[in-house]
Amino acid sequence: MASGWTLAGVRQSGRHPAELPLAKAAVAIWQTLSEELDGQTHYRQVGNLRCARNAAEAQRIEAIVAEHGAAGLEMHLLEGKDVQELAPLVSPDVLCASFCPSDGHADPQATVHSFVEAGKRLGVEVRFGETVTGLEVTSGKASGVRTKDGVIAASQVVLAAGIHANELIQPFGYRVPYEVMSATMMRSVAMPAREMPVIGVANGDTTLRQEAHGQFRIGGGHEVWDGQLDLDPWPQVRPRASSVLELIERYSALVPALADVKLDRLWCGLIDQTVDALPVLDVLPEAGGVVLATGFSGHGFCLGPVTGQILADLAEGKAPALPIAPFRMSRFADGGTGSTVELHG
Ligand SMILES: Cc1cc2nc3c(=O)[nH]c(=O)nc-3n(C[C@H](O)[C@H](O)[C@H](O)COP(=O)(O)OP(=O)(O)OC[C@H]3O[C@@H](n4cnc5c(N)ncnc54)[C@H](O)[C@@H]3O)c2cc1C
Repeated sequence: MASGWTLAGVRQSGRHPAELPLAKAAVAIWQTLSEELDGQTHYRQVGNLRCARNAAEAQRIEAIVAEHGAAGLEMHLLEGKDVQELAPLVSPDVLCASFCPSDGHADPQATVHSFVEAGKRLGVEVRFGETVTGLEVTSGKASGVRTKDGVIAASQVVLAAGIHANELIQPFGYRVPYEVMSATMMRSVAMPAREMPVIGVANGDTTLRQEAHGQFRIGGGHEVWDGQLDLDPWPQVRPRASSVLELIERYSALVPALADVKLDRLWCGLIDQTVDALPVLDVLPEAGGVVLATGFSGHGFCLGPVTGQILADLAEGKAPALPIAPFRMSRFADGGTGSTVELHG
């Protein structure tokens, strides 16, 4: 689902201060992840360029550069021709842009496949197409999961079910306040490959990157999901023609060379958008101590490698090395502030 539908940017820039330490730690892992997994990730540390299309966006970009500089993240403000010097395909109408050289991107299918294969080599049993219908709790402790075929016993349960997490924790009185948003995505045919950063805009409504084999992966427009999800042969959400046209208009204005590119695939990706745009990484005592990871709000691909370490620590009852207090479930007790979807790659 999200981990295949994603744009797959691996970035620290534009992150909430609470997420920045996790994103930085993740980027450190991404450097050698491919060797560690002994499989492909197609990770490229080519930077992230966030463009301003008008005066208001320019102000926002300047603020992001100043904020991140103060937080110790290397970021540059590019103006005028400097933007095209770094990314010649970007429209000369762009007023200015932020550039974070240590950001980048990876291939989501290759990365997930490499994680699965590495897990199997370590003895992980992988099952696809088998729906978990409930969590088993015995004497107050998580003891497994239920499927239509019976119970799979376990000494600990980690629940990383993306947009479906609430369905499984609701029987225990929990609900993560996320809204499911649908983002329009598309992919071009292969184009001549060039070294270029992930290109986005200040409000995140248009983001694109060139994949390892030359295709452009483009996304951004989003709306509240209407609940329609085809499951056969794999989970798919169809984009509306109007959303596709709007995205084409936006990316053509940002990168005119792509205006006439041939498109190979269209899809939507579903986003678990919490009220503060931060995930939940926590242990749920009322659900027998199940470990929960959900609500990544369009940021979870980059964080995958550190999320795994954090969940492993929580499952073993250890305190994770990274600061995760901002991701506690209890923060929602008072409601929370509103958030918007910003896909910056
Ligand atoms: C369009 C789009 C663009 C994005 N761009 C970026 C980006 O540039 N950078 C970035 O860092 N992040 C990005 N994200 C976010 C990132 O992709 C997600 O946060 C991340 O992939 C979420 O991973 P996950 O494991 O939590 O969920 P998922 O990848 O959705 O995995 C959940 C899995 O649980 C399974 N499941 C659910 N319920 C059950 C059940 N009852 N029984 C059995 N299995 C179940 C699902 O089938 C699925 O395989 C983007 C997301 C989207 C949709």
